[in-house]
Amino acid sequence: MRNMNPKKTAMPEQDPKIRASNFGEVALGYTEQMARSEAERCLQCKNKPCVEGCPVNVKIPDFIALIAEGRFIDAYNKIRETNGLPAICGRVCPQETQCEQRCVRGIKGEPVGIGRLERFAADYAITHETPPVECRPATGKKAAVIGSGPAGLTCAADLAKMGVDVTVFEAFHTPGGVLVYGIPEFRLPKALVQKEIDALKRMGVKIETNMVMGRVLTIDELKDMGFEAIFIGTGAGLPSFMNIPGENLNGVYSANEFLTRINLMKGYKFPEYDTPVVRHKRLAVVGGGNVAMDAARCAKRLGADEVYIVYRRGEAEMPARNEEIHHAKEEGIIFQFLVNPTEILGTDDGYVRGMKLQKMELGEPDASGRRRPVPVPGSEYEIELDAVVVAIGQSPNPLLRDATPGLATQKWGGIIVDEETGATSIEGVYAGGDAVSGAATVILAMGAGKTAAKAMFDYLSRPHSGGE
Ligand code: FAD
Ligand code: SF4
Ligand code: SF4
Repeated sequence: MRNMNPKKTAMPEQDPKIRASNFGEVALGYTEQMARSEAERCLQCKNKPCVEGCPVNVKIPDFIALIAEGRFIDAYNKIRETNGLPAICGRVCPQETQCEQRCVRGIKGEPVGIGRLERFAADYAITHETPPVECRPATGKKAAVIGSGPAGLTCAADLAKMGVDVTVFEAFHTPGGVLVYGIPEFRLPKALVQKEIDALKRMGVKIETNMVMGRVLTIDELKDMGFEAIFIGTGAGLPSFMNIPGENLNGVYSANEFLTRINLMKGYKFPEYDTPVVRHKRLAVVGGGNVAMDAARCAKRLGADEVYIVYRRGEAEMPARNEEIHHAKEEGIIFQFLVNPTEILGTDDGYVRGMKLQKMELGEPDASGRRRPVPVPGSEYEIELDAVVVAIGQSPNPLLRDATPGLATQKWGGIIVDEETGATSIEGVYAGGDAVSGAATVILAMGAGKTAAKAMFDYLSRPHSGGE
């Protein structure tokens, strides 16, 4: 029976007061009954506008119909036809600007909770027996994937399914990219990412960690080792700074370092894990994206009394997902809009003691289409702090690029590729994800990994230099 409720079926969540001091997942997921009720809100539109909004074209009405019938494993398998990481996408995709933005139920109410249903099907499959992914017979061809974020993992999985012998080389000691070192446990439990990586290993993919490519091995050396096709999915992990006085003080972190210590090295579990994280009392995070929200919410969970988000535009211009802003507010994060840091203030012995901020107002739209923040003269003021986290953007790390002569890149560092195939300027070398686009999203990185895997398979299947 169709459910015409204009609102999404509510998803249970941890109470904000309780969750602000633990790293357990915030959203708790649907029960079977909730999922079926939400699935019954779908109108099964013939022209499927929602599918167009998904970068990997998940067969949305089809999987939702299966959930409505209670065929949860079938629903999961339907999603897996085009999306290899549904438990992850169901949690972190910006659905409100993708699939759900196109949903016709959104015209007179809330769209169907497509992400929530995707998460439900994936979680159900994880806790029930699912058949292993079938791989085609071995082709005898070898490919290397550099970087194990969503782009690299997707590329590796698709190549393995096509019978290619794949090795993933990862610089960190743990695979997963931003999924493990950036996005915190309370939004994306690491055990889920580990399950995806275990599934990849069962498909025969080899994962070599602590391999900083460009330093340990070059692209030419990989070719000499018999890797005929290579995918670069090294992400955008190089933090940007504000270049204002005081950025070298003790207590100033890039969001990357702050989050890596907390998430990947489990600093929040010190002394169980031996990566201590300083627990600050008054901390400001500069920036308005998902990275800034994650850093602020982590700081709160580590016990800070006051955590500020300092953003130079207004709330409407914030690039973070609405849900993350809402959750951060519920957890007591203090938002200061239309302010820009001009100096980080230090103590005599070199520690952060505060920040000087200037008020801003919005002027004409800039190249990004958002209204440009303009300083209000004479409006500077100071706040007291003992730490600052800078979350104003990341760009691709130059290490591999610098060690690879002939690899064409943009001025800002992004690798230049053919859009249709992901092919770089070097024969047999492909790239995708944040290393190409700059900081973007999980699902776009996955889409790029998929595109490249297909092109790499075609390349491996035809005569080429270095092949047999
Ligand atoms: P990454 O995930 O960055 O993975 C790259 C991997 O390559 C890393 O493991 C890195 O260690 C490795 N590597 C780098 N250089 C080398 C080298 N020389 N040799 C070997 N390995 C190397 N997106 C969303 O869709 N939703 C969200 O809610 C969201 N939240 C985010 C929160 C944070 C804190 C951050 C930082 C990003 C967030 N994003 C989110 C963006 C999303 O995570 C990225 O767009 C996505 O992970 C990019 O995938 P990737 O595979 O290209 O790169
Ligand atoms: Fe929506 Fe992301 Fe799932 Fe696509 S992968 S249907 S965009 S949640
Ligand atoms: Fe269902 Fe919305 Fe897609 Fe229509 S647009 S098929 S209602 S999810």
